[in-house]
Amino acid sequence: MKVLVLNSGSSSIKYQLFRSEDWVSIANGLVARIGEPEGELRHAWLAADGKEASSRESCPIPTHAEGIDNIVACLRDTGSLADVSELAAIGHRVVHGGSHFKEPVIVDDAVVEAIRDVIPLAPLHNPGHLSGIEVARRLFPRVPSVVVFDTAFHQTMAPTAYRYAIPEYLYTEHRIRRYGFHGTSHYYVAKRAAAVLGKPLNTCNLISLHLGNGASATAIRVGKCIDTSMGLTPLEGLVMGTRCGDIDPAVLIYLSKNLGLSTEQIDRLLNRESGLLGMCGVNDMREIDRLAAQGHERAELAIGVTVHRLKKYIGAYYAELGKVDAVVFTGGIGENSAKIRALACQGLDRLGIIMDDEANSATDSRGERCVSAPEGAVKVLVIPTNEELEIAQQAMTAVGLQ
Ligand code: AMP
Repeated sequence: MKVLVLNSGSSSIKYQLFRSEDWVSIANGLVARIGEPEGELRHAWLAADGKEASSRESCPIPTHAEGIDNIVACLRDTGSLADVSELAAIGHRVVHGGSHFKEPVIVDDAVVEAIRDVIPLAPLHNPGHLSGIEVARRLFPRVPSVVVFDTAFHQTMAPTAYRYAIPEYLYTEHRIRRYGFHGTSHYYVAKRAAAVLGKPLNTCNLISLHLGNGASATAIRVGKCIDTSMGLTPLEGLVMGTRCGDIDPAVLIYLSKNLGLSTEQIDRLLNRESGLLGMCGVNDMREIDRLAAQGHERAELAIGVTVHRLKKYIGAYYAELGKVDAVVFTGGIGENSAKIRALACQGLDRLGIIMDDEANSATDSRGERCVSAPEGAVKVLVIPTNEELEIAQQAMTAVGLQ
């Protein structure tokens, strides 16, 4: 059987098709600029000879329905999916499940309503997800759709971790609390880290650091999330590509009162114009690294602030956990930047976090690996994340086929 994973946004749909026998990804791609005069369709697949092939096409894609139709036509034309009946499930990534969802669920009308109900909490994401889910249900009524939520893994947090110190009614009436995101990634790397440590996940205490364009840290006790750095929205916490992360809320009041910025302007400023981009004009860590090496002061400061914040979270989560088996790095930066890993762990020897500089900076290393020195009590692991695979496997489990 096969599992199709869809990540449906407001104007794009990313997809990946897995073969469930061995969980090999046999096709992936993207439909972009849905609703614009010229849409884009990118498709990559494993050809019959086992070699990778790809195609790229421009054509109008007026709606999500046409987008998913195009994807299925590509899968059929390239032999990746001879017939829709080969699909055991369609797994949908959904950013926000509010407090409703602690695990993946098979979509029915009530689930659609519950996702709609939390649109105020994720206005940029959930409407696009719903479009994809509704189209998939309509086009493939016999294939179960399963939703996997970015928030679900964090639902084990205690109120002491997820409540803000603001008046009670804002929580009870308006659901303002910390939810956390990147949960599928944190859960996936936690499971893989447990496998690398050779221990069951439910005996592992981990600090998981997902460092990509978006970034978050999670404290995991005996396999369950007890704290995470993102909050009501993915804006809180670490320094990110274009998001500021933690900030004194009074800055927003100041911006409004003294600079006359509107809520929309503040939203754009903090979500899209801040973080690495705001500090040094670039949000690609590779470029920032290059600039810093040339003595670019703002690039050096951007790295400094990023690492300072990271270290604060490592220390805070260490204190919450008491004992830590491993610090896990993942995401584009976490997996690839030996420098950020080294700086984040620098000076933490007393906590048992001791890097093996050679292993950490080995340029020929890829995949899951340990980059800490044997004498350190806490392992430092690099685990490439694979959210699509996790969604596919959770979808398969939800339909009872795994
Ligand atoms: P993601 O959102 O997980 O795709 O991660 C994107 C981020 O990873 C960008 O900031 C990239 O600059 C960063 N990244 C990717 N490769 C490297 C690398 N080799 N060194 C440093 N940063 C990298």
